[in-house]
Amino acid sequence: MKYTEGPEIRDAKAPEGPIEGRWEKRKFSARLVNPANKRKLHVIVVGTGLAGGSAAATLGELGYNVTSFCYQDSPRRAHSIAAQGGINAAKNYRGDGDSVYRLFYDTVKGGDFRARESNVYRLAEVSVNIIDQAVAQGVPFAREYGGLLDTRSFGGAQVSRTFYARGQTGQQLLLGAYQALERQIAAGTVTMHTRHEMLDLIVSDGRARGVIVRDMVTGEIERHFADAVVLATGGYGNVFFLSTNAKGCNTTAIWRAHERGAYFANPCYTQIHPTCIPVSGEYQSKLTLMSESLRNDGRVWVPLKKNDTRAPGDIPEEERDYYLERIYPAFGNLVPRDIASRAAKNVCDEGRGVGPGGLGVYLDFRDAINRLGRDAVEKKYGNLFEMYERITGENPYDVPMRIYPAVHYTMGGLWVDYDLQSTIPGLFVIGEANFSDHGANRLGASALMQGLADGYFVLPTTIGDYLADGPFGDVDEEAVAEAEIKVRTKIERLMSVNGTRTPDSFHRELGKLMWDYCGMERTEESLRKALERIPELREEFWQNVKVSGTAEELNQVLEKAGRVADFFDLAELMCLDALIRTESCGGHFRAESQDADGEALRDDENFAHVSAWERTPDGPVLHKEPLEYEYVKMTQRSYK
Ligand SMILES: Cc1cc2nc3c(=O)[nH]c(=O)nc-3n(C[C@H](O)[C@H](O)[C@H](O)COP(=O)(O)OP(=O)(O)OC[C@H]3O[C@@H](n4cnc5c(N)ncnc54)[C@H](O)[C@@H]3O)c2cc1C
Repeated sequence: MKYTEGPEIRDAKAPEGPIEGRWEKRKFSARLVNPANKRKLHVIVVGTGLAGGSAAATLGELGYNVTSFCYQDSPRRAHSIAAQGGINAAKNYRGDGDSVYRLFYDTVKGGDFRARESNVYRLAEVSVNIIDQAVAQGVPFAREYGGLLDTRSFGGAQVSRTFYARGQTGQQLLLGAYQALERQIAAGTVTMHTRHEMLDLIVSDGRARGVIVRDMVTGEIERHFADAVVLATGGYGNVFFLSTNAKGCNTTAIWRAHERGAYFANPCYTQIHPTCIPVSGEYQSKLTLMSESLRNDGRVWVPLKKNDTRAPGDIPEEERDYYLERIYPAFGNLVPRDIASRAAKNVCDEGRGVGPGGLGVYLDFRDAINRLGRDAVEKKYGNLFEMYERITGENPYDVPMRIYPAVHYTMGGLWVDYDLQSTIPGLFVIGEANFSDHGANRLGASALMQGLADGYFVLPTTIGDYLADGPFGDVDEEAVAEAEIKVRTKIERLMSVNGTRTPDSFHRELGKLMWDYCGMERTEESLRKALERIPELREEFWQNVKVSGTAEELNQVLEKAGRVADFFDLAELMCLDALIRTESCGGHFRAESQDADGEALRDDENFAHVSAWERTPDGPVLHKEPLEYEYVKMTQRSYK
């Protein structure tokens, strides 16, 4: 795939000066919109997960006219509901040395020096407000006996800063955001459209002014207009087919915005989570996460001997290798995800993996149960243990869990500036859909923090600065008609192929190819293979896909086909991005770039930048945004 290099880009909105004052400074310089004018301004928010739900509720509360969309039958079924382990905040309730600065430091380091310092500092700063907001809404965070909020540890941190509600933190936080949203729906400031899928962005006179959506029940194509559009449409890990994401997660909204001119940043940065239930068969359609919180008390190990087929209980202590504790004594089982995943892969590649196919390692609670008692372990992790038992038929109180890495989160997404605005004026992108805060590796419990920081606190301030110039008048009819025709043409094309293979079968093949060639380890050879094969498979898709039913009814095959079509184009960009980033950093591990210990080896001289891709008729154009580190010195990451 050919590409060219365009001019460098900069984040023009990032304030300067001491880092502690930058967000304050931006909040003060952002223009305000008076309450009477807010009522005349219209904002579309696509997505009702933690990012979109909190944003729509807050914008409604502020007095804007909001229209909100999601493809589920209820806003509270957004994928955020699946989040298990917790949400970080620099509250330092434990007095264990945490601070805003330490959370900032851990996150910049955890992201392997590929995130912006200003954004990360703001995230750490706002984190403390999120907990207050959620508690005020009644979110039932776990509490200690005395009534204080409890915390636990997540990877990449030596303090205990993760707030949680058993293994259902996302669910409880989403119910909080959903209640706030429902309140605004009842108050008439937010109009909700469930089961509507955004299929294109309307850009008029250079501004994002609306969306084209399909009513998923009737098939009707609708147009909706606004003064600004917010995409909070989640991540695209499902490009790999098998992932821990909800089955519906897809790239369509951000990809189609990319086709309209929004730059796509760091598409190759994918997070592989170390603790998931291993794949069990060819026809499996999804993978299940076992929360990272389990690594607080569970110990990861494999047999010392290769091809050891003994039951775990028959393997004596001295014949076990607690490899994370051995290799990384300072962080032990709580090393960041990228490091833990690669270590699991390495021991399995050595032939020491456990379970069918040798693709698994143990996560063992024996010592925790002996130390804390079964009841205490059950209290903390009961629902996760139950989930594991239901899926595998094994009781983790008695035998260690078997786990293996799986695709989990995408750090890449649409490029945004400090105001969370994309390269299309008026198009804001929040939550997992943007690229902004996690660099090349997201630390656990930081996605919920970012989604809610964006939705409750950052966007509602920064969007005002943009809307202060509105309302922006009528939307150009030609632009609307063009977008609508584009959507209809694509649907008609998908319906008319009438081939022999289901969209799902193409998706499965694409996903396998991505996992094999652009997964946990990437090489020049594997990426070139992928770049050769993806266009062939895409060609076959457009010649041979079979979409049953009609476009004028509820048609999940059609929905799937549209999403798979976009996954093909995204997959190609991911592989290209991975190919030209010849360094290893965070979740992007190029086998050619590793140090003597097999750890990721960055190349700061050539790659300390964000790769922001522009889509043009002549192929992708790469714009680099240089990354500068004033506060956290760029060093080789070490968790030893
Ligand atoms: C199993 C699991 C557990 C996790 N646990 C944690 C955790 O403990 N802590 C943590 O910090 N993170 C966790 N994460 C990550 C975290 O859950 C997600 O990153 C986060 O919830 C994403 O929120 P979001 O609001 O950006 O998107 P989502 O919650 O994915 O919401 C996307 C929304 O966009 C809508 N949408 C998408 N496309 C369209 C379209 N074209 N048209 C209309 N609507 C559209 C959807 O309907 C939905 O409402 C976990 C992830 C997984 C998979």
